[in-house]
Amino acid sequence: MPKKPGFSPEHAEPSVKLSARGVARLQGRHPWVYRSDVAEANDVPPGSLVRVLDQRGKFLGTALYSSSSQIAIRVISHGSVADLPALVAERIRAGIGYRKELVSNTDAYRVIFSEGDFLPGLIVDRYNDVLCLQILTQAMDAAPVREVILQTLREELQPAGIVERVDARIRELEQLPPLASRLLWGEKSSTVFAMNSTMNSGVRFLYDGLEGQKTGAFLDQRENYAAAAQYAHGEVLDVFCYQGGFALHFAVQSAVHSALHTAAKCSSVTGVDSSRPALELAEKNAALNGRELEWIEANAFDLLREYAASGRRYDTIVLDPPAFAKTKRDLEKALGGYKELNLRAMKMLRPGGILVTCSCSYHVGVADFFEVVADAARDAHKSFRVIENRGAAKDHPMLLNVPETSYLKCLILSVSN
Ligand code: SAH
Repeated sequence: MPKKPGFSPEHAEPSVKLSARGVARLQGRHPWVYRSDVAEANDVPPGSLVRVLDQRGKFLGTALYSSSSQIAIRVISHGSVADLPALVAERIRAGIGYRKELVSNTDAYRVIFSEGDFLPGLIVDRYNDVLCLQILTQAMDAAPVREVILQTLREELQPAGIVERVDARIRELEQLPPLASRLLWGEKSSTVFAMNSTMNSGVRFLYDGLEGQKTGAFLDQRENYAAAAQYAHGEVLDVFCYQGGFALHFAVQSAVHSALHTAAKCSSVTGVDSSRPALELAEKNAALNGRELEWIEANAFDLLREYAASGRRYDTIVLDPPAFAKTKRDLEKALGGYKELNLRAMKMLRPGGILVTCSCSYHVGVADFFEVVADAARDAHKSFRVIENRGAAKDHPMLLNVPETSYLKCLILSVSN
């Protein structure tokens, strides 16, 4: 059959037509279009690169298509894309370049953060010489894309090993065949990394990419650890401590980088978490840094209730709970959880005390979080100064028009009276 005039490989790509609402989202520079806003998508193979059109057929951009996710379209370019693997390689190099400029004093950071690096569905973390990648969409799972991801990471970062950490639930949602977490390339899957390494006082952590449960670190808190360590002093309680991120920074750095007149060395640091494996690693991390800390396995709600009732007092308290609001429907209950934790912690703070309070629930916005913490202060009959109002570290880029990329809140407060 003769080719139609004007045929080019570009036009061989499948296309989708958006509803007016879908078009508005795309024009609003949001990369996601929900299935309900796709007006027409005939015979589009799962995970393919698609041309995005409005209802009259006007070209709007190029996207990655998912046949199963509610987010059917993830825009990857507002122009046309001739070669997806080449674009992925270019974006990975750009992501690495961005970190070279903005990230310092650490050999652990997020190298690629999905939409934040214009690579929807790809996450890459660096832990010293081991890279850990996560693939979350059909398009990123395609063999030629996987190949170029590995090749570019190897060329640019020369790791000793690359592991893939698989979230079984996400593969199921994307209707991808099950996979095990495994070493993808090289020999090494575990290592030691160091962060906030200024004045020879970096904090060291163990990393094992193939441990059964979620290992890795909460790299998004990296800059907050160092910030909080400037004010931490006296007796410290790190609640929801996981592998000891805040606790270890306080034990190692509080005296070195003191920012307040009153701040002196931390006299004792206690970490609390309900996960025994996390605490076992926290203890190993402490030993790696030549420190001995106290670790308590407990439900934080019960422990704070008990401590508050028995009149325990602290000079510094950290609250870094898991995301209480996984969906919008959980919001009310989540706010109740934040209120309770913050109220109890505030009551336990000595005069001049520091509260580091965090929320990683996207559904709890900055304004909601301020309100709930302020509410707790009112009930605790105490006034607080907001010393710092912080978010995720810069290697977790936040896109101005994509609210979903901004999720972490970290307030550093001091009790005034
Ligand atoms: N502050 C940590 C990250 C905390 S992640 C860091 O910087 O690395 C949240 C932690 O809360 C997890 O380690 C989880 O095990 C713990 N957790 C969840 N529910 C809990 C509960 N009810 N009581 C105590 N810990 C809990």
